[in-house]
Amino acid sequence: MAQIHLLPPVEHRFKANLHTHSRISDGVMTPAEVKALYKNAGFQIVAMTDHNIMADHSELSDDDFLMLTGGEFNVNDPEFQPSKHKRGKTYHLCMIARCPDNLWQPFPAPMKREFAIPYIKKTRPEDMPRVYGIKEINDIIAKANEMGFLVTYNHPVWSLQDYSDWSGLKGLWGMEVCNSGSVASGYTEHNATVYQDMLRLGMHLMPVAASDMHEEKSRYGMVYYNTAWCTVCAEKLEYDAVIAALEKGDLYASLGPEIESLTWEDGKVRIRCTPVRSIQVETHFRTTRLAIPKDDAATMEEAEFDLSEWVEQERDTPNAFFRLTLTDPDGNYAVTRAYWLSELPV
Ligand SMILES: [Zn+2]
Ligand SMILES: [Zn+2]
Repeated sequence: MAQIHLLPPVEHRFKANLHTHSRISDGVMTPAEVKALYKNAGFQIVAMTDHNIMADHSELSDDDFLMLTGGEFNVNDPEFQPSKHKRGKTYHLCMIARCPDNLWQPFPAPMKREFAIPYIKKTRPEDMPRVYGIKEINDIIAKANEMGFLVTYNHPVWSLQDYSDWSGLKGLWGMEVCNSGSVASGYTEHNATVYQDMLRLGMHLMPVAASDMHEEKSRYGMVYYNTAWCTVCAEKLEYDAVIAALEKGDLYASLGPEIESLTWEDGKVRIRCTPVRSIQVETHFRTTRLAIPKDDAATMEEAEFDLSEWVEQERDTPNAFFRLTLTDPDGNYAVTRAYWLSELPV
């Protein structure tokens, strides 16, 4: 059977931060300063996702840089606010618009900062119930999908959320496997286990690593704005092409390692990557694989995994998937999306 590319062999890959703040909400930089920061750091895509404001920054896009229209919307749990200084449980959802001029949003934006007002005036808010409940959250996600947005579930650790909060979610496009801004504030915001659990519940989700940038360094001095990203395999650096790649799942999340190629042929997964110390394959069930460097080498740049036996076993299992995790010598990892058996030629 023919070889297929699990990541399309496009001419250029694009480095994206899909969760970013500016001074339109509680960030410190103007949108233009955010763009300059990321462009200098080798990124080509930023989704600006200011709190509770959908904003179009297309005027900052150029031949080498693309701004995606977005916003981050929250619903707080009134039952769990330990004190007015420490906010409690909350859902934070990033919404990225399929069309740059789509300024719908689920709730009216708060008229807080003077700098934000021109942006707020352009939004088209609905007035959806802002209730901390799974049904209400799913209604918001469903409406956002209908209105043309990709919705990501953000930073469950920072949000103080657990299985009861996220196991019933529906209609999400992605979830944050790492939020480096949360890490830089002292949280263990490495969520591959949550990603795995959500996949095992049958959600078809993409992994997102993002910085949630508010400023270059956290209040503890840790630089985090460029330490977590998504690598997007799009045909072109154009709005439609990038959205299409995100929707198809032509991306992976990374804190360091880069994947040069990832293919499937006759039940074998082959990967080439920047130097790493291990590559894991996990599936929906107990089948796993682990590759480490050969002959006492410190690192490896390729591996092959034979999953043909797994394919035979799981051929009729709904929702059977595999996914890879690469870890470099510094402990930084990259996470592929889940590849479902149902989408593979077997
Ligand atoms: Zn957030
Ligand atoms: Zn945020």
